[in-house]
Amino acid sequence: MSLLAAPDTSHSAHTPAPPLVWSNRFATLGESFFTDNVPTPLPDPQWVAWSPSVAADLGLPAAWMDSTEAAEVFTGNRVLPGSRPLATVYSGHQFGHWAGQLGDGRAIWLGEVDAPAGPLEVQLKGAGLTPYSRRGDGRAVLRSSIREFLCSEAMHGLGIPTTRALALTASPAAVVRETVETAAVVTRVAPSFIRFGHFEHFSAGGRIEELRQLADFVIDHHYPACRQGGNPYAALLEAVSERTAELLAQWQAVGFCHGVMNTDNMSVLGLTIDYGPFQFLDAFNPGHICNHSDTGGRYAYHTQPNIAYWNLFCLGQALLPLMDDQQQALDALEPYKALFPAALQRRMGAKLGLAAVLPGDDALVEDLMQLMARDAVDFTVLFRRLSHAADGPLEPVRDLFLQREAFDAWAARWQARLQGQPGFDAAATRLHMLRTNPHIVLRNHLAEIAIRQAREGDFAEVQRLLKALQAPFDERQGEDDLAALPPDWAAGIEISCSS
Ligand code: AMP
Ligand code: MG
Repeated sequence: MSLLAAPDTSHSAHTPAPPLVWSNRFATLGESFFTDNVPTPLPDPQWVAWSPSVAADLGLPAAWMDSTEAAEVFTGNRVLPGSRPLATVYSGHQFGHWAGQLGDGRAIWLGEVDAPAGPLEVQLKGAGLTPYSRRGDGRAVLRSSIREFLCSEAMHGLGIPTTRALALTASPAAVVRETVETAAVVTRVAPSFIRFGHFEHFSAGGRIEELRQLADFVIDHHYPACRQGGNPYAALLEAVSERTAELLAQWQAVGFCHGVMNTDNMSVLGLTIDYGPFQFLDAFNPGHICNHSDTGGRYAYHTQPNIAYWNLFCLGQALLPLMDDQQQALDALEPYKALFPAALQRRMGAKLGLAAVLPGDDALVEDLMQLMARDAVDFTVLFRRLSHAADGPLEPVRDLFLQREAFDAWAARWQARLQGQPGFDAAATRLHMLRTNPHIVLRNHLAEIAIRQAREGDFAEVQRLLKALQAPFDERQGEDDLAALPPDWAAGIEISCSS
């Protein structure tokens, strides 16, 4: 990468740089936690897309976002005054095994901005080597960057906690993976990028004072309520468990598979983070494995909730030196076991139009999922059509099944349950379900179509998808293709960890 010269910026548009206020609070932790590290420039950066809603959160004017200067800043070719680029160190468990030191191998923190939406950290992914790159090149390819950019904004549109994506730029610079591809940079934004792995790093090294410092930092800035009595670190573990339970319920309820739930890919804020081989389910298969590299199926759809608990256990283990005893950590993890199923039940009930969970609803949900699995029914299309059927004909839902009598029997139970709700209003239920069950999700084949066009230099499909995914509950003209059943070739798409 050092052979690449910084591009000639003399012809940049003369839109003044925005007056960002940088607080860079992570850097106050001290140099045990990171290494100062400026991005390595890429040649000829081009805009692929940027998210107007994240730009507004940061207070970045649209006119500046459109500028060449902004493309350079968000490719890592120019550092804004006040930004302090650095890479952080973390460790983690990968595929169930302790992997030792990892760290930001290709993510560079530009710093933290005191933004209109509150303090937000800004990170470039793919902006060059860091001390933690190990054998990697510090780069990200266009293909995986399009997927991360779009899915971050899609998850936000769905109301699911996630790191956001401000910008996506591309460069013709070659990046070697299985084949030669080209480079891209995603600018990610979040209140914090701290992972479970950051805690594991200091704990495993016996660096208890740094562990405490990190935990205090997270509590002070993100979980102040943990200081209201008892052991604050146990309270932190419990609070992270609660957020993670809620997150996992949201993933399961929308048919989202993360694909690489290693402890270094788990956010301490309960955000979805590190989009790699993720997938929204097409045909429902509870054992679906979206990551082609996950040969054992550790991260299959139906194992995700238990893996999240396993990961929380690792976090508990890491925080143990700050607690009174082991029981305190176990007690802090306990609520996950009740909170996750309750949250899932509530969300699945809402998907069926149920205002409250009653005994027997579990079976109603479970029986539908079994029918869906047996007939490989499309997850998103099923719930969307079911939403319309709350106040309309059942045929479009029935048509999705091979075993229609079985579906009819289930539908009769569902309708009886709906109509038994106090003050049942079919039209209102339909509307509520249409706000719960998305019309459009970022299916693999949709991303794939946008990727193929982008490789030809045409970014229109990325931009069209961004717009559609930011409002995924709306049915708009001209977007039928985005909501349709996947084409046959979609089942053949293989997404691996390579990115
Ligand atoms: P991931 O599987 O993407 O979560 O990455 C696991 C670890 O590998 C993290 O520490 C990443 O920073 C690092 N990594 C992944 N890809 C690269 C790359 N191309 N260059 C440097 N480090 C990388
Ligand atoms: Mg990662």
